[in-house]
Amino acid sequence: MRPRALSALALGLVLLVTGCGEAGKSPEKAAAPPSASASPSPTPVTKPSPTPTTPAKPKLRPLPKKLPAGLHRASGSNGVALTFDDGPDPRYTPQILAQLRAAHVKATFCVVGKQAKRYPELVARIVREGHQLCNHSWHHDVNLGRRSAAEIRSDLERTNEAIHAAAPKAPITWFRQPGGRWTAEEVTIAKQMGLRPLHWSVDPQDWDHPPAKTIIKRVKGATRHGSVVLMHDAGGDRAQTMAACRHLIPDLKRRYGIALPR
Ligand SMILES: [Zn+2]
Repeated sequence: MRPRALSALALGLVLLVTGCGEAGKSPEKAAAPPSASASPSPTPVTKPSPTPTTPAKPKLRPLPKKLPAGLHRASGSNGVALTFDDGPDPRYTPQILAQLRAAHVKATFCVVGKQAKRYPELVARIVREGHQLCNHSWHHDVNLGRRSAAEIRSDLERTNEAIHAAAPKAPITWFRQPGGRWTAEEVTIAKQMGLRPLHWSVDPQDWDHPPAKTIIKRVKGATRHGSVVLMHDAGGDRAQTMAACRHLIPDLKRRYGIALPR
């Protein structure tokens, strides 16, 4: 095979060198890679670059193996902190607000910037009813913590602006990284912006649509004094979370008290 391949190559070279005048007429030759030696060019020959002009995708910084230091994972008091993520949502946020009002307790809403822009009246209502706000990134970017400092900062700013367009001057006490995929850099930036990094200690995984009784069992099994409970009032069908909360809110209030994290 090898001598034949070599002779074919040699023939090809001969054809290229000798047949350059007719190269355009033959489809086979037109398909052959252009050879600089075949026709002398006035411009210096440059080899085609493997990655020509498309800008390189910015690299994501690696996710740390352990959660970074400085996260708030406890309520800071004996009471349990309730946190509701990914809203506001016109279907579920009013239901949770009504439940909280009926129980005379306050919670923290981790709102997504896009949702805040779309439903400003719900952000205003969260604030008016005495609840706390948490920035949860512009479009729930689970990789936000891995991006450049400038990207992290502008995402958090944009989200704060959407919140403040809905509820001017409302304090935005916290930031929570979507998916809990924190990096140390992101914690530092959030703190520099006056946003305290809020994690959680109880996660019933309600986003995965377990039945209400499973959500109740998981929360009751894991909650202690000072727990921060993560649940969702948006991002999908939250009927089971709503049903679970009808039981959990009065129950947790009676056993531990419900408090805002601090
Ligand atoms: Zn989320």
